[in-house]
Amino acid sequence: MHLAATTGAWHEKNCHLNILNAARKGRYGVIATVAYNIEHIVLDLYELLSLSLTVDLTILPWAVTYSDGLPIRAAKDAVSRATVPISLHLDHAQDESLVKLAADTLSFDSIMVDMSHYGKAEILRKTAELVQYCADRGIATDAEPGRIEGGEDGVMDTGSLEAYFTTMKDVKNFVHAGVDVLAPSFGNIHGEYPERGRELGLNLLQEIDKALPNNVLIALHGTNGFTPQLMKECIQHGVVKINVNKLVLEDYLIYHCWDGKKHRLTSFMKQGTQKVIRPTVKWLEICGSAGKA
Ligand SMILES: [Zn+2]
Repeated sequence: MHLAATTGAWHEKNCHLNILNAARKGRYGVIATVAYNIEHIVLDLYELLSLSLTVDLTILPWAVTYSDGLPIRAAKDAVSRATVPISLHLDHAQDESLVKLAADTLSFDSIMVDMSHYGKAEILRKTAELVQYCADRGIATDAEPGRIEGGEDGVMDTGSLEAYFTTMKDVKNFVHAGVDVLAPSFGNIHGEYPERGRELGLNLLQEIDKALPNNVLIALHGTNGFTPQLMKECIQHGVVKINVNKLVLEDYLIYHCWDGKKHRLTSFMKQGTQKVIRPTVKWLEICGSAGKA
């Protein structure tokens, strides 16, 4: 099966898609780092850019609703001054009104239209409608064919909905709906993996990659505890965009638990930022995107 994608003139100008398409051609992975607060935005947009390293700056819905979009406006200001392309992405937007609010009032290059908590027919209908809504505004979209198990801090809790793997029919339907980036479910889990370890369906991942048109790309969700080898295998099997959360934020969280009383707030914030830089640079190098800005 080889599918054809729907494309519009805006696709060529979309920064998010340009970054990911270059990565697909170059067979490397783009790190998508979650920014929960202004320190993380400073990290991504000043510290990494000073090293000529770029990432996909990912915001979760909590950061939009908690502060009425303020960190996104700050990030957009910094992006507009950046010397290398950097994209601004809203991940796991599970509420239809939030997708529309973000598309209408915030400067995202890309929005993940995550309707995976609905029934299958509803998912497709709502996804297609919201993908078109974003495309009309020149915004790329991610979506989750299948349902990835677990949850993530900053995303609406969908309770104990049963996970299911992506099928090739799901892939066909989502491509037909005009989705630009697919986040398949192939044994990956949001949050912590069980003690027995990971059972990833890398063959399914590769099958999905082979079926996709050149300009529809794969995002990997659920990377907690990944080894460098496993990450490279996922890239070899078609992954282009890699969501990282705990992999780069764990040192920062530990630092916040233990060192809060030892510093003035200003030095505490600055050193906290440094705690995220080291692992972020490490994973950029592992995924092959260091020096590709
Ligand atoms: Zn996710």
